[in-house]
Amino acid sequence: MAHSDDEAFAFMEEPGGPVEPPPMQVWQVLVVDDEPDVHAATRLALKDVEVEGRALEFSHASSAAQAIEFLAGRDDFAVALIDVVMGSNDEGLQLVRRIREDLGNSMIRVILRTGQPGYAPEIDTIRLYDINDYKTKSELTQVRLFTSLTMAVRSYAQIRQLESSRRGLEQVLSATAELGRPVGMKKFAAGIVTQLCAVLKVSAECLVCAVLPEPGSHPYILAAAGHYDAWVGMALRDVPDGRVRGCLQHVLDTRQHCFDGGVGLFFSGRGGQVLAAFVDVPGPLSELERRLLEVFCGNISIAFENLQLYLDINDLAYQDVLVHLPNRNAMVAAIDAQAAGVNVLALVDLDNFSEINSILDDSYGDAVLQAAARKLRLAFPAETMVARLGGDLFGLYGPADQVTADHIARVFAEPFEMAGGEPLRLSATAGLVRLQGDGQPGVAVLKNAGAALKQAKRFQRGKFMMFEAAQADAARDRIQMLNRLRASFSAEHLFLQYQPFIRLRDERVVGAECLLRWETPDGQFIPPDRFIPLAEQSGLMIPIGEWVFRTALKWRKSLAGLVGDDFRVAVNVSHVQFAEPNFVRGLLSILNEIGVPGEQVEIELTESVAIGNVDVLAARLDALRARGIRVAMDDFGTGYSSLSVIQRLSLDRLKIDRSFVSGPQDGDDRFGIARTVIALARHLRVHTIAEGIETPSQREALQASGCEEGQGYLFSRPLDDAAFRQWLAGRQAAGI
Ligand code: C2E
Ligand code: MG
Ligand code: MG
Repeated sequence: MAHSDDEAFAFMEEPGGPVEPPPMQVWQVLVVDDEPDVHAATRLALKDVEVEGRALEFSHASSAAQAIEFLAGRDDFAVALIDVVMGSNDEGLQLVRRIREDLGNSMIRVILRTGQPGYAPEIDTIRLYDINDYKTKSELTQVRLFTSLTMAVRSYAQIRQLESSRRGLEQVLSATAELGRPVGMKKFAAGIVTQLCAVLKVSAECLVCAVLPEPGSHPYILAAAGHYDAWVGMALRDVPDGRVRGCLQHVLDTRQHCFDGGVGLFFSGRGGQVLAAFVDVPGPLSELERRLLEVFCGNISIAFENLQLYLDINDLAYQDVLVHLPNRNAMVAAIDAQAAGVNVLALVDLDNFSEINSILDDSYGDAVLQAAARKLRLAFPAETMVARLGGDLFGLYGPADQVTADHIARVFAEPFEMAGGEPLRLSATAGLVRLQGDGQPGVAVLKNAGAALKQAKRFQRGKFMMFEAAQADAARDRIQMLNRLRASFSAEHLFLQYQPFIRLRDERVVGAECLLRWETPDGQFIPPDRFIPLAEQSGLMIPIGEWVFRTALKWRKSLAGLVGDDFRVAVNVSHVQFAEPNFVRGLLSILNEIGVPGEQVEIELTESVAIGNVDVLAARLDALRARGIRVAMDDFGTGYSSLSVIQRLSLDRLKIDRSFVSGPQDGDDRFGIARTVIALARHLRVHTIAEGIETPSQREALQASGCEEGQGYLFSRPLDDAAFRQWLAGRQAAGI
């Protein structure tokens, strides 16, 4: 066997007895006297004497200094027989003081002897220096010397035992404190192994710890040390060493410690969970060791129960009870602890789960969630964390090569096995976010992934999309912006600006385009190109579009008298508005409500409107046209409308996109396009207007090409109502 030191070895080998014998075969006795005769006489008087089954072994010192040499660094002297009067009258007393105070030896027993009764020490001195006996040499007959020495040896043995047991207890207490910290069950078992080593002073080679998780289940090796290490995780019945296996099984069966053939220890826990430990000690344990182990095991059982309680509470905080997966808290903690390397977080949302839940009963919904949890857990390696984040939302967090959109798609391509029911086909939408280990907190990462998922749902229900962090950020920003837009709209903080249309031939103001404006509460102007697509995606564009139309018509009405009857307001209409079945009816009812002739109204479509069903669109435009409303194709030339579509829709006007108008003109192909569009429009008998005219030369070139109308900063920037009126008045004053 391996052992830490000789003393421990001796300590273990002693058989137990009524009084714990010190770890020695003999009692060491030191005789200190300056008279050589006394040494000889003492040895003779105590010859063949045995105390507690052990002989005496004498050492001899003729002075205090020599005695100190003997005693320094040794604590195995049981008794010192010291002469009081040696070189000086109290040299013996001084020696006792040095033994106790300087050497710190409190265990050695002291018998003082003196030839001169006049130098007897005070009672206080005897108490202070813990002196066992004080006798004059003449008093000390052989018998009395024997009695006094025997008592001194016995008390030494007792003190030594108490000391060992005190140290053992200290060890047990610190071990208990160590094991009392909340750790995982594995660490706890490993801790028991280490602490048992320390308490029993044996090498870590000899310890194994097994656990029986629940009544009726199979015990397995939870922790082990040294060459037993390879057994960790093994079922107890497979442990190759019959002695260890037998001892642990016996302990588990009898639920008691066992001290035959190695030490088997039993620790009971909550809910039937128990631990057993095996210690390979070379021989039987002493009484003291057994008692220490009892205390240790009692404490460990308490720590074990506390640990289970802690783990249970932890489970509640970090586990989803329905599907037995980690929950959102656990996911946040895992991301906070961010594993090295590139990781991906995927949020997987089951499609139509609320319908499943409402059409069928709740327990079926639960079963669906359990089936999904089971399948996801099995589909990914243990390294990937699979969690239920709430409702029908699952999270996958793991290395980038494991958590991929493809892998998730494969999981959902197969039907889900339902406990006791038909297999079920489920689809899901997932947003994936790549984490570069930049230490973003788990909560923020989950938020990003949430934005990614929202985005995925919006466009690609039933798909699994990867979003880079920047995309997720952008998606989150967009959602925030949308919320602010919604708030601004309901607070009526949106407004219109008006940009005039000019007839190029005579500079006459023939109308104005109504452009939507959003000024945020902090004074920021957000361009419509940014917020209109958002409003379109969210459905908010429908009420906003109605408001624009109504406002534009009211504005037109308010201009009566300031402009001619042929002055038209042009309103941009987005494709989502057109997609609404009620669009035409809504528009016409606003027209009636405000009371503006349809001839004064134009709507501007973009070419994207024409992607849908052209027949339906043509019918709607015809219905508008029947009320006099005209239709212009906006940004013409940038899209993909074919000539046939233009004809089918019987458009009134083409708006040449500003990208063909603004910027350098000479020898530029882009202006060539403008010219072609104008020629084409003439051929189709469609009117033309050019947007984005910034310079007189652009204007001249367009006019020369036959373009009828123009709009742009050259004439005026978009203006609010008051500025527009001022602008009109200014022109009138100038006689234009
Ligand atoms: P759009 O209908 O093509 O509007 C013309 C855009 O060109 C406006 O930008 C206008 O300010 C800008 N513009 C006018 N003259 C010049 C110029 O000389 N040079 C340059 N560089 N730009 C000029 P804005 O106001 O930012 O509007 C952008 C787009 O937002 C509009 O393009 C339109 O598609 C959309 N939009 C604006 N208001 C509404 C609305 O009420 N409903 C819908 N559905 N879309 C709108
Ligand atoms: Mg427009
Ligand atoms: Mg335009």
